[in-house]
Amino acid sequence: MLQIGEAQQKVLEEIPVLGIERIHIMEALGRVLAQDVQAVRNVPSSDNSAMDGYCVIHADLVGANSANPKRIRIIGESPAGRPFTGVVLRGQAVRIFTGGTIPTGADTVIMLEDTEKDGDDIICLNDPGLGAHIRPEGEDVKGGEVVLHRGDIVRPPEVGMLATLGHAYVYVYQRPIVAILSTGDELVDLDEPFTKGMVLCSNSYSLAAQVMECGAIPLSLGIASDSADDQRSKLSGGLRADLILTSGGVSVGKYDLVKDTLTDLGMKVKFWKVAMKPGKPLVFGSLGGKPVFGLPGNPTSAMISFEQFVRPALLKMMGHVNLFRPLMEATLAEDVNISAGRLHLVRCKLFDRDGELIAITTGTQSSGALRSMVLADGLIILPPEKAPFRAGDRVKIQSLHTNSPLSPESHY
Ligand code: AMP
Ligand code: MG
Repeated sequence: MLQIGEAQQKVLEEIPVLGIERIHIMEALGRVLAQDVQAVRNVPSSDNSAMDGYCVIHADLVGANSANPKRIRIIGESPAGRPFTGVVLRGQAVRIFTGGTIPTGADTVIMLEDTEKDGDDIICLNDPGLGAHIRPEGEDVKGGEVVLHRGDIVRPPEVGMLATLGHAYVYVYQRPIVAILSTGDELVDLDEPFTKGMVLCSNSYSLAAQVMECGAIPLSLGIASDSADDQRSKLSGGLRADLILTSGGVSVGKYDLVKDTLTDLGMKVKFWKVAMKPGKPLVFGSLGGKPVFGLPGNPTSAMISFEQFVRPALLKMMGHVNLFRPLMEATLAEDVNISAGRLHLVRCKLFDRDGELIAITTGTQSSGALRSMVLADGLIILPPEKAPFRAGDRVKIQSLHTNSPLSPESHY
């Protein structure tokens, strides 16, 4: 049986990066840039003031202090957006405000707090040094510089930078459409009558939510029964998607027909079964050039298999460079027994004990127990060759969050 890392590699080798599209920067949050972004001009576009105060010629302030104040005549003002158009000469000052353009002739800003006003003059009580409080033209970005790069994720700062550089539109990688089919005679959908013994189809929804969390677009194909005909006809509605996901029916039972149905439709099986728990009976293949994942039906197995294989695949399609969740180290709060032969991914809660990250399991690890996912902050990665695992052991955790479980005191 394939190890999880080998299987991941086989998946990623098959996954294409999608094409590109041009979108508005307000649509671009979380997307990956498909272009470099070059500045056409300097930012800021002129020397401007970092403070409220007066701009002056530094030579007029040399030696100024409270015992030896310097008197300078105010000749105008230069608020942000309305530059002073005259020239500052020796003995002259222009009132300036944060962001105001430094007028020709001036070379220094003295803060308001270091001056006293006396009629049309200011009394300067110190020498802030040549060039003080001036933000020079091009301090942030020089014209011609490549500021953002293909492969960068668009976060709020990138949105701001794109706007600063004058870009309303930008090229990003496309988002894949992901067809999702749930299979099983026992499944009913939310709008169907429920009778005892049936199972509400949660996978269509949890998987669609995982797809959306990655930034991709889910396309629901509904529920197919454990019949090859029904599965074929429902799947045919998803063949134009960029990636196909099924859940259920990939194990070895009499009613596990999904792998055969997909093969009949033309899927080439790349692998079936991975040495992991939960999630062993995963099938991965390629159908008409599109990647297909047959995920196991158990709600937790489906979600964890998605995390290990589908999420990195979708991120690669969307141009991401970093494809995996953050790894952390934590201390086990309890003994954890695992069976031989498979890498275990144990749902855990994380908490902070005096700056040390502690992992405690979420209780029953049954593959059907969706609550173990609801409670989980992460997955404890337990390789069978390192068993047994005892309270106090240091273990690797795959985070399921992007935020840290550490308390604020541990951060600063
Ligand atoms: P299977 O992989 O088809 O053998 O299904 C394994 C278990 O997962 C069974 O108990 C199914 O009832 C359950 N299951 C399968 N598909 C779903 C689904 N879409 N939503 C919730 N549970 C499911
Ligand atoms: Mg089934």
